Amino acid sequence: MHHFSYKDNEMYCEEVPIQVIAEKVGTPFYLYSHATLKRHFLAFQHAFEGTQRLVCYSAKANSNLAVMSLIAGLGGGLDIVSGGELYRGLKAGFSPNKIVYSGVGKRLDEIDLALEHGVLMLNVESLEELKAIDQRAGLLNKRAPIAIRVNPDVDSRTHPYISTGLKKNKFGINAEAAMEGYKLAREMEHIDIVGIDCHIGSQITRVQPFEDALGSVKKLVNDLKEMRIDIKYLDMGGGLGITYDDESPPHPDEYAKAIVRSLKDASLHLILEPGRVIVGNAGILVTRVLYRKSGDIKKFVIADAAMNDLIRPTLYGAYHAIQPVVQSTGKTIVADVVGPICETGDFLAVDREIPDVKQGDLLAVMSAGAYGFTMSSNYCSRLKVAEVMVKDDGFHVVRDRQTYEDLMAGESIPDFFDQ
Ligand SMILES: *Cc1c(COP(=O)(O)O)cnc(C)c1O
Repeated sequence: MHHFSYKDNEMYCEEVPIQVIAEKVGTPFYLYSHATLKRHFLAFQHAFEGTQRLVCYSAKANSNLAVMSLIAGLGGGLDIVSGGELYRGLKAGFSPNKIVYSGVGKRLDEIDLALEHGVLMLNVESLEELKAIDQRAGLLNKRAPIAIRVNPDVDSRTHPYISTGLKKNKFGINAEAAMEGYKLAREMEHIDIVGIDCHIGSQITRVQPFEDALGSVKKLVNDLKEMRIDIKYLDMGGGLGITYDDESPPHPDEYAKAIVRSLKDASLHLILEPGRVIVGNAGILVTRVLYRKSGDIKKFVIADAAMNDLIRPTLYGAYHAIQPVVQSTGKTIVADVVGPICETGDFLAVDREIPDVKQGDLLAVMSAGAYGFTMSSNYCSRLKVAEVMVKDDGFHVVRDRQTYEDLMAGESIPDFFDQ
């Protein structure tokens, strides 16, 4: 259950009619439900009750300051993949010792920033990175807590672009290289080995791939134990899927049960990095119909939101349900819902049965809370849209719509144009 539902044919977010927000804020805009965000985070957190665990929300799914600060307030940790996300995370109120830093390409300045703030651990993805971290820690006179990200070679059966745990993917290193990495790390002067990490992909709708990955990781933990390398944190990454259309992913309870069962008595402290499952269905994108037209073989509904605002349909062929904000007649049409951008790939839905909307109608693009705004761009000099959060019967603009001045911030015309 989320908090976007109809009362008298009109869609509300919690107790606020979405039409009212659209009148006030303009379109398009992302809309998040406070109650849904809170419930999703707590449901995930409670699913692992009784196990030593830290739930590190994955910032890249939705890094709005308000969203992150809500999660920080609920006691969450944070999974980051850049210096920018670290900066945001600290502003949002996450304590550095609840922040884990993942990613294949950490720059030296980003490593320094993480070490200076004292993050919980850096998840290392190559031996060259390990050496760089040791060096930077030495220069800063610090010790670097690390985990090695293992690529367990399991097929998460998700979209190829969001599968990360296969041999052919750029993420992590294989089991043998990981063992070598740990041996190296043990000899390094400024490295503390604290964990082991894996993240096998995103939008995973079965528990089996997670169990398979955990099996491989546990085997490594045991091998390490024999070499007297003791691991404290086992980071299982994120990846739990959500319902966009007709998927039926496991409930966090079922996911947690499977992981805890496979973990057995290993006295490890679990770290989890959920992103999509927390925010995906806690947000929608609201857009207005600009025009309709009929081509020779297709009908088009042209909305004011485009691929630069929500790229998932274009990038992954992802499905997002599209619902009218005000329900009218039961009549439907089959149409492509497209944006104003000059690309054939600019669509929100293709050959979709939708209500027979009119010019000016509002549409809700559902399940858009994760990888929506964070993947948006200024392509075609389109302004980044506003983000709004509803709580009970009130709402707050948690990010202003950009202005034309924002658009050119930092740009300048060189002096030599005058010469
Ligand atoms: C993207 C990412 C996550 C979050 O994935 P979801 O599918 O949104 O849960 C977690 N950990 C790492 C390392 C990631 O790159």
